[in-house]
Amino acid sequence: MNEKDCIFCKIVRGEIPSHKVYEDDDVLAFLDIGQVTKGHTLVIPKKHYDNFLSTPQEVMHKVMDVAQRIGQVQMMKLGAKGVNILSNCNKEAGQSVFHFHVHVIPRYGAKEGLKIEFKQPSELKDLSLPIIAETISKEIK
Ligand code: 5GP
Ligand code: ZN
Repeated sequence: MNEKDCIFCKIVRGEIPSHKVYEDDDVLAFLDIGQVTKGHTLVIPKKHYDNFLSTPQEVMHKVMDVAQRIGQVQMMKLGAKGVNILSNCNKEAGQSVFHFHVHVIPRYGAKEGLKIEFKQPSELKDLSLPIIAETISKEIK
C-alpha cells in the first residue's frame, strides 16, 4: 500500500474528514468510523508505516503514549470501566488498513460490539512450552 492510496494517510492530509481527538507533529488520533463501543479511537503515526512491527521504536513509543492518555480520558470522561488496547498486524491478525494504528476501545461492561476470547484449542494442549520460550528468548537481547 503506497501513501497516496492509504486511507489513513488521506486522513492525515485532510483529504478525508475525521473526528480528531488529538494531534501533534507526529501523532494523530481520531474516532473509528465503525464504533464498536462509544468512543472507540484510533491512534496513528502521521508518517506511513505498515504496522506496529515495522514502525521505528521512537515513533511507536509516541503513538503508545497517546494511546495510554486516551484510555485514561475514556475512563475519566466517558464513564468507561475498562479499555482494550489493540493493534492488528497483517491480515491473518485482522488488519484491514495497512497503516500502523492502535485501537483504544473503552469498555462499559454491557453487551458490546467486541468480544475477545482466549481459548486454547485441544490440539495445542501438548505444546512444548520450554522449546517455544527458548526459540523466542534467545532472539531477544
Ligand atoms: P484494522 O482492522 O486494520 O485493525 O482496523 C481498521 C479500522 O479502521 C476499522 O476499525 C475501521 O472501522 C477503521 N476505518 C476504516 N476506514 C476508516 C475511515 O475512513 N475513517 C475512520 N475514522 N476509520 C476508518
Ligand atoms: Zn498511510
